[in-house]
Amino acid sequence: MTKNDISEIKQLLSTPKNIVIVPHKNPDGDAMGSCLGMYHYLLQLGHSASVITPNDYPKFLKWLPGDNAVMIYESQVSPSQKLIANADIIFTLDFNALDRTGAMEMSLEEAKGIKILIDHHQQPDGYAKYVYSNVNMCSTSEMIYHFLEMLEDVNAITSYIATCLYVGIMTDTGSFRFASTTSTTHRVIADLIDKGANNAEIHKNVYDNNSQDRVQLLGCALNNLKVIPELNTAYISLSQEELNRYNFKKGDTEGVVNYGLSVKRINFAAIFIEHKQEGIVKISLRSKGTFDSNAFARNHFNGGGHINAAGGRSDLGLTDTIVKFISILPNYINDLKS
Ligand code: 5GP
Ligand code: MN
Repeated sequence: MTKNDISEIKQLLSTPKNIVIVPHKNPDGDAMGSCLGMYHYLLQLGHSASVITPNDYPKFLKWLPGDNAVMIYESQVSPSQKLIANADIIFTLDFNALDRTGAMEMSLEEAKGIKILIDHHQQPDGYAKYVYSNVNMCSTSEMIYHFLEMLEDVNAITSYIATCLYVGIMTDTGSFRFASTTSTTHRVIADLIDKGANNAEIHKNVYDNNSQDRVQLLGCALNNLKVIPELNTAYISLSQEELNRYNFKKGDTEGVVNYGLSVKRINFAAIFIEHKQEGIVKISLRSKGTFDSNAFARNHFNGGGHINAAGGRSDLGLTDTIVKFISILPNYINDLKS
């Protein structure tokens, strides 16, 4: 984002506008945190702003300030389409290709509003007029903070904005432990706490609000963990029957893939989750060091993401998807061993 871009955006935001803010499908903590942080900022500037998510999001995010105003496209198609068509500005946050918004893709493509992309995933598409893309950032929420710095408006951060951005940074960094966490991330977090983010309360709301079913589904997943020591790889699977047994709700499997990486000497971990109704297996990939999960997801499972965290899908069914995964791994033996 150039100085000129910033001054044009400042100019745009200097008079009241209709603004829509969109995260990716299956929004996570960073997607919701960045969108709602931006939402509160824009309201404060006097704009008419709406967050529209492609589909529903996990219960552990449904306490965020502004949550009750979030519109879910899937369940409110025509009012959502109206807002998108009438928007002067559309912020697309935490993704960089319009097909990541599922059913919203067409409405967004046709929308006349000026698009502003803020995101930390690799290989951004060219759909937006203004692009703030940085793959070295731990989270889009940290980028929203830096965006406000560029607008010279960090002092406008309220406790609502601080809370939303804290959630995004915390969830995308695995509570500040992934390699993407920098000293700048910690400085941003410190400032967000100063501006009213209640860190202990936020951790409790996100991580210590589980149903018994969710914790026992984790037990089931851990029981299914398989390790391939000669390839430094671990994987977990969850069948539809197992999900049903523990009353699976969206978000219940968030973070489970990381347990594979916690096994000694494991550099690459995967989780395969069967979604019978959609006829797909959803795959999450995590790696340590230089092993490129993004390339692996793109090349073999119609997905993408970052070097150390990516996702994708398969329509081969659960067993065959895992067979395919295991058969591909030996091609990467040198990368997996290093
Ligand atoms: P998760 O495994 O938590 O769903 O996703 C990990 C990372 O990969 C996230 O940054 C997410 O945005 C990205 N990702 C997950 N699934 C897909 C996918 O199907 N396509 C692309 N391009 N990225 C994905
Ligand atoms: Mn993110």
